[in-house]
Amino acid sequence: MNLERSRQLFEAAKQVIPGGVNSPVRAFRSVSVNPPFIREGKGSRIIDVDDNSYIDYVGSWGPLILGHSHPEVVCALKEAINRGTSYGAPTEIETELARMVCEAVPSVEMVRMVNSGTEATMSALRLARGYTGRDMIVKFEGNYHGHSDSLLIKAGSGALTHGVPDSPGVPADIAQNTLTANFNDIAGMKEIFQKYGEQIAAVIVEPIAGNMGVVPASQEFMDFLRIITTKYGTLLIFDEVMTGFRVSYHGAQSLYGIQPDITCFGKIIGGGLPVGAYGGKREIMSMMSPAGPIYQAGTLSGNPLAMAAGLITLRILRDNPCIYTELEEKSKLLAEGLRENAMKLGIAASLNRVGSMLCMFFTSQQVVDYHTAISSDTRIFARYFEEMLKRGIYLAPSQFEAAFVSAAHRKEDIIFTIEQSYEALKTIL
Ligand code: PMP
Repeated sequence: MNLERSRQLFEAAKQVIPGGVNSPVRAFRSVSVNPPFIREGKGSRIIDVDDNSYIDYVGSWGPLILGHSHPEVVCALKEAINRGTSYGAPTEIETELARMVCEAVPSVEMVRMVNSGTEATMSALRLARGYTGRDMIVKFEGNYHGHSDSLLIKAGSGALTHGVPDSPGVPADIAQNTLTANFNDIAGMKEIFQKYGEQIAAVIVEPIAGNMGVVPASQEFMDFLRIITTKYGTLLIFDEVMTGFRVSYHGAQSLYGIQPDITCFGKIIGGGLPVGAYGGKREIMSMMSPAGPIYQAGTLSGNPLAMAAGLITLRILRDNPCIYTELEEKSKLLAEGLRENAMKLGIAASLNRVGSMLCMFFTSQQVVDYHTAISSDTRIFARYFEEMLKRGIYLAPSQFEAAFVSAAHRKEDIIFTIEQSYEALKTIL
């Protein structure tokens, strides 16, 4: 595979951009290939500057459920751009998108648009803290909610300890207000609430964790979270930045039958443009400025291009429910093919999938939390990734990421991917 032009561009980028990238995972640090620099994306494929074409299972890390440059999304953007790029003033389309989100997700009665998932979760925490008058929050090990100070926290040593900064620059004073709990561990949550319950403003959770591979919460765990948070007057925040409009048009919360107090969105609701959002019950959302006292703002929030891309994407998803049925079928086919390949070759692998989010872990353990996720052999993953890339399959360059199937993936793409996966796995033996 020729990646010469990408290599040159990467060297040039490193001179002026830290690590050559604007988001760390793009640098391919956990594998030993340079990142291809992408020239264009069409449907299920991306093409790099050396003319290599790949079937893409990253989909810009989740937003592109309709595939690259979907004709209707492109058309909506062209129309919007002719009317200007930003006004910093209210527009009709913001209300339309907000209404669509509220109609799709019943727990959301009001929603505020922001520019990224990070902003959505950061603002949701401020809202929860302002609403409850409490400072502490609980997050789960292996869940990722963006890079704001309160959420860039890893577990302290041992159970029931306060969090510690996951990056230099996160003040220890802030970290200690974040308690880090085990995902899918009801007993652990009971202990935390017995000790700190009255002080906890919010529990934030990825209902289907997509940032340690793919690890769904169990129904019992989710039911318990709803019960315990209600009991203690703590807000339950679902981070559906990845799962919102992905696992179902009505979000992961519809699969669990649970109504969180606040939901965070991102990715798909921007149709590939920078958008995030947080929403919830009217009574809680009315605390946000200017309706209420809690402050949050944004120069480009509700940007007309981003709203146009988001709105057309949601309309297509709403009006074509068969998209989700087809995503389920294609993703099931892919998951079964990948699992079978590993079995045939005697490679220990464990595959998790919910709808069009999936992940193959190189471990014989069933992956249910962070500890079982990290039992995966990341050296095998790195080799598998490289072999797949060589064969024209673009996966996320880290074991602990989800693969996304889009509406643009055809059955032929899936079958080709399964065949290439067999060949890739064979070279690892
Ligand atoms: N929450 C979740 C569940 C995410 O997956 C991500 C990003 N991958 C974020 C929050 C942060 O979103 P952003 O990168 O848009 O800030």
